[in-house]
Amino acid sequence: MAERYTTGNAHAESFFTVFGRHVVVTETGLNTDIISHELAHVALFDRIPNFKWYMMTYRVPVWFDEGIAMQVDYREIYSTEKYLRHTDNGAKAPTLVSMASISDFYQPDTLGWYRYATSKHEVARWLQKVDRQGLDQLIQSTTIFSDFDEQYQFIEAAAEK
Ligand SMILES: [Zn+2]
Repeated sequence: MAERYTTGNAHAESFFTVFGRHVVVTETGLNTDIISHELAHVALFDRIPNFKWYMMTYRVPVWFDEGIAMQVDYREIYSTEKYLRHTDNGAKAPTLVSMASISDFYQPDTLGWYRYATSKHEVARWLQKVDRQGLDQLIQSTTIFSDFDEQYQFIEAAAEK
């Protein structure tokens, strides 16, 4: 979805339609981190087995989509150190539930940084446990018949055994 890093000035955005996912990069967005970030959105979208547009719009929480994209986005402002410092070691981080829907995540408020940084931190934490295999499993199970959050937790719990 459209990235709004500041007050409405997008450097780049990827968006999806029923025809697929596209990336548009503006002149100020010609930056490796931002392009990598947007391509990660495209890669995730492409790997959803079926009903991609529907699944990404209604079933995959935005924090996960952004969290995946942030794994290849090394901009210093989203570093772990900054996340921990500005959220009081996570205590003041937004909840995942509060940034699951498109309208909740892309709110035109001043808390966007918290949502991106928290998504990055959460997905990094999860990936560290489940690894590539867990991610593949989650994406494959992202179908209209399954509950995303349930699968996300199930895969993590299975990896801990
Ligand atoms: Zn993004």
